Amino acid sequence: MRLLKKNIEKSIEYGEEKNFFNKLNKIYEEIQGGECRGCTSCCMESVNTFYIEFLNIYKHLKNRPELYMKLIPKVIEYYFLELVENRPCPFLDKDGRCTIYEVRPLTCRLFGHLSEREHNENYKNVLEENRESRDYFREEYGIEIPEEIVNYKIEYCKEFKVDKRAKKQERQSMIDDIFVIESSFFMKELITEEFLGTGLVSWFAYSYFDLDEAGDYRLDIMREYAEQGKNAILEKVLKKVIDDKL
Ligand code: SF4
Ligand code: SF4
Repeated sequence: MRLLKKNIEKSIEYGEEKNFFNKLNKIYEEIQGGECRGCTSCCMESVNTFYIEFLNIYKHLKNRPELYMKLIPKVIEYYFLELVENRPCPFLDKDGRCTIYEVRPLTCRLFGHLSEREHNENYKNVLEENRESRDYFREEYGIEIPEEIVNYKIEYCKEFKVDKRAKKQERQSMIDDIFVIESSFFMKELITEEFLGTGLVSWFAYSYFDLDEAGDYRLDIMREYAEQGKNAILEKVLKKVIDDKL
């Protein structure tokens, strides 16, 4: 199963016809931007993203082919190495700016709006998922995911200031509204359930590789990385991505 580029194009057309991108932007506009010291700690890993949000970002980058071609090797590299090495979100540039700021996903927009308790609850869930992945990779493939990746935590930010925090109920209602949009793509069979819960970098990876192919490459790259550090398989895979057209 692959997220074919022609299906991405069809999904964008469908989203435009149904006014979904405007609806998404309206939801984003409900979230008040805050002020902070821009330390980038909250961008030290990538985020989960709805399909409509991936389409919104893809559409934005498609109109900026130079930026797309600059970002895509970083994005794909992140996908293949995220379980062996802690690295910042690939959309963060070297000056600490988000390269897709105008179209950044909901999770990034809501980061500072959560209470400390909610932030820690989310971490507990992520930690549980990470531990499950660690056990799965260990038992199925004999690959060890380093403990610093399993336990990695973005600390709660006490420096973010905003006049009006989005309350839990309001945030849930935004997610529900996006989910309604998301369901339309499933009903139209433009995506299938295999793609549920996909992260932002994974959407991009699946536009280049079949799900199984991506999984097989990931195992080979992780094994090679564990044994030798640098990675010939990864370089081959990145070349394929760079040679491919947008
Ligand atoms: S919200 Fe907090 S963690 Fe994120 S960049 Fe601003 S100060 Fe840093
Ligand atoms: S998409 Fe942008 S805001 Fe979100 S984590 Fe990445 S760099 Fe940070």
